[in-house]
Amino acid sequence: MPNDRLQTDGATLNATLSGTNLENAKQHNRRVVLEALRLHGELSRADLKRLTRLSTQTVSNIADEFIERSLFIESDSRPTARGKPPKILSINAKGAYSIGLQLDHRKLIGVLLDLGGEELARTRIDVSHPNPAEGLPALEQAIAELITQSKVARARICGIGVVMPGPFNVNETTASGPTVLPEWQAFPLVAKLSHSTGLPVYLENDATAAAMGESYFGAVKGMRNFACIYIGTGLGGGLVIEGRPMRGKNGNAGEIGHVPIFPDGKPCYCGNTGCAEQYLSLHSAYDCLGLDSATCDPSFLEAAFEKRDPKLLEWMQAAGLTLKLMILGLENTLDPETVVITGYMPKKLLDQIIHTMEPLAQSVSSHNERKTPRVLLGTAGDEVAALGAAVFPLLQSFGLVAPVLATRMKD
Ligand SMILES: [Zn+2]
Repeated sequence: MPNDRLQTDGATLNATLSGTNLENAKQHNRRVVLEALRLHGELSRADLKRLTRLSTQTVSNIADEFIERSLFIESDSRPTARGKPPKILSINAKGAYSIGLQLDHRKLIGVLLDLGGEELARTRIDVSHPNPAEGLPALEQAIAELITQSKVARARICGIGVVMPGPFNVNETTASGPTVLPEWQAFPLVAKLSHSTGLPVYLENDATAAAMGESYFGAVKGMRNFACIYIGTGLGGGLVIEGRPMRGKNGNAGEIGHVPIFPDGKPCYCGNTGCAEQYLSLHSAYDCLGLDSATCDPSFLEAAFEKRDPKLLEWMQAAGLTLKLMILGLENTLDPETVVITGYMPKKLLDQIIHTMEPLAQSVSSHNERKTPRVLLGTAGDEVAALGAAVFPLLQSFGLVAPVLATRMKD
C-alpha cells in the first residue's frame, strides 16, 4: 500500500484536514454568534440567523448549548400588535466571571469582570521589579481582594488571565533586559497559580492583552483587523486578525520593540543596535533624562515636558520617527482597519510625538474611502492590559481559545 500520508489526491487531503477544518468551523461559528450578541445586546434566533448568515440549525445548536451552560439566557420579548413575539437571546452576564491581572515593573493591576464585560472589582498593588518569590503572593493577594470586593461565587469564576511584558522563551540576552521581568522566564507560573487558586490560568504578553482590551472596551471596539502599539516600560505590539489575537509560534507575534529601526543606532540589550524600543518606550524616555526606570513613573516625564527639557524634546523627535516607521511597517504588512496606540505614555507627550510624525507618509492604508482614521489613541484606560487579560478566560468559557493558552514559561 502506498504511503497515504504522501498522497496528494483530493480524497486523502480532505481526510487528513477535515478534523481541523470542522473544529475551526465550530469555533468560528461560535465566535460569530457570540460577537453578534455582544455587539447587539439582544437578538432573536431569526435575527442571529440573518446577521450571521448561519443556518437555522447551527444557530439553534450554538444557542441551546450556551443556554444549557447558563452562558446565554432566552426570554420573552414584549408583545406586539402582530401576535406572539419571538423569544430574545442575550448573554447571561452573571453566568461566569473572569479575573485579569497585569504584572509590570512597578504595579500589579487586577480586575474582575462578569460575562457581559462589566467591571465588578478592581485592585492595584505597588511592586518593584518583582521576582516570583515576591510576585506570586502579590498575585494571590490581588485575586483574594477581587473575589472579596465583588462577592461573586468562586465556582462561577471561569479563570484568571495573567499578563506581563514579553518576549517569552527566547535567548537569554533578549529575556534579560530592563523592560522584561527576567526571573519569571523559568518560573512555572501557570502551574503554581492554578494549584494555589484551583482555577484555570492563562498567561499572555501584555501587548496582546492590551490589543484585546482596546478591542472589547476601548477605541477599536468591534473591529476585526487592527494593530495595537503598546507603549509601556518597553515597546510591544498586539495584532488582531479576523477578530482573533495573533500569537505566532511561541506567542511572541507583534514583538515590535526589537525591530531594528536605525542600523547604526543605540545598542539594545537583545544584542542588536537601533531597536525601536530604544527610541519609543517609557524606559528610553527616562534614559534620555538620566533617570532610572526602576524608580520612575510617567509623572517624571510630564514634569520634564512642562519644563520643555531639551533632552526630552530631542527624544520626542526620534520617538516620533520611530512611531511613524512602526505604523508604516504595520500598515503595509497587515492592511489593518487602523493602528491603535495604547499604554502608559502620558497623553500630552503622546500627542506631541504624533504631531512630529505628521503628515503620515503614504502606505497601503492611504485611500480616500477610509471611514476610520489610520491612527487612533486607546481609550480603555490604565488597566487596558488587565482588562484584556480578563477577556481570555471569558473566551475560554465559550470554547473559543485553547484550554491552556500559554505554556511558554516552562510549565
Ligand atoms: Zn533589541
